[in-house]
Amino acid sequence: MSAPVAASVLPRLQVCGLTTTLVQRDGQVPLVRGVSFDLHAGRTLALVGESGSGKSLTALSLMRLLARNASWQCSGQALFTDAAGQTRDLLQLPDGEMRQLRGHQIAMIFQEPMTCLNPVLTVGEQIAESVRLHLGLGKSAARQRALQALEQVEIPAARQRLDEYPHQMSGGMRQRVMIAMAMVCEPQVLIADEPTTALDVTIQAQILALMSRLQRDTGMSLLFITHNLGVVAHHAERVAVMYAGEVVEHADVHALFAHPAHPYTQGLLACLPGRARQLSLKEGRRMALQDIPGQAPAMNRLGAGCSFAERCASRMPQCSLQAPAWQGDAPQGRACHLELRS
Ligand code: SF4
Repeated sequence: MSAPVAASVLPRLQVCGLTTTLVQRDGQVPLVRGVSFDLHAGRTLALVGESGSGKSLTALSLMRLLARNASWQCSGQALFTDAAGQTRDLLQLPDGEMRQLRGHQIAMIFQEPMTCLNPVLTVGEQIAESVRLHLGLGKSAARQRALQALEQVEIPAARQRLDEYPHQMSGGMRQRVMIAMAMVCEPQVLIADEPTTALDVTIQAQILALMSRLQRDTGMSLLFITHNLGVVAHHAERVAVMYAGEVVEHADVHALFAHPAHPYTQGLLACLPGRARQLSLKEGRRMALQDIPGQAPAMNRLGAGCSFAERCASRMPQCSLQAPAWQGDAPQGRACHLELRS
């Protein structure tokens, strides 16, 4: 643990060169490759990319919640600085200290609440358990705090819901419970992994509005993992685009949407239905939705060059031979051989 410094100076979470490797009998497969980003107090960073790009694995590596039925190696740094200015490397913390931090100062909302909530405990018991563990409250005070948490996420008839089981609730309600569980100890960093993907559009909008309000109220930092660029445009200040386990572009959200610098980001934005609709209205005809041709590469067969090379319309001979260096003032910039236009 480092000496306290002015907390506002340092990012709440500073990830440097995070690499997560799956260790198998027949070799090692790096699935997260040198990921770096800063997340400042009260800010939202979106981690975007296709399924399998390493977004969730990045989050699970930071939380030290990688699947126990596999063997992993993590390297790099994940420096968490709390409100008192104490900095700790999440990857190096002893298990006991990490357990104290997780669910208290750093929390996570998972994509599918039904797989994360315990089906044999009431939601009240599950929320109160976290309060008792991290805040040391007694049974009755913890139940009262759980009730407040359910009210905070605007669950109707919260007192009655405390004694219900997850299967008695709708998907949107369960997701609110997950948010209540994550927020009950007032974390300084919240990692939300596709928190609305399984919900219909109306509920999705309600949950996102709720998370924005809670962030405004508490000043927490939010790492928002999603493949939905519409959500990114409305809820993030900065964006890190991931492809094949690495960040290929990192930018301010306005800059990214106005001038995407990496061919993969350009492809992702071209796939947006809204863009196609705008263009088709402008041109007075229907326009087919675009896609990015090809598939993401198999992670155990990555070559020496750019991992996007097989799908990139701007590919040059050197792209397949040599991995592109980062262009820009890290963590901002992109990884590409194309010359960066000013
Ligand atoms: Fe495309 Fe080459 Fe840039 Fe990779 S390095 S994104 S292949 S232009």
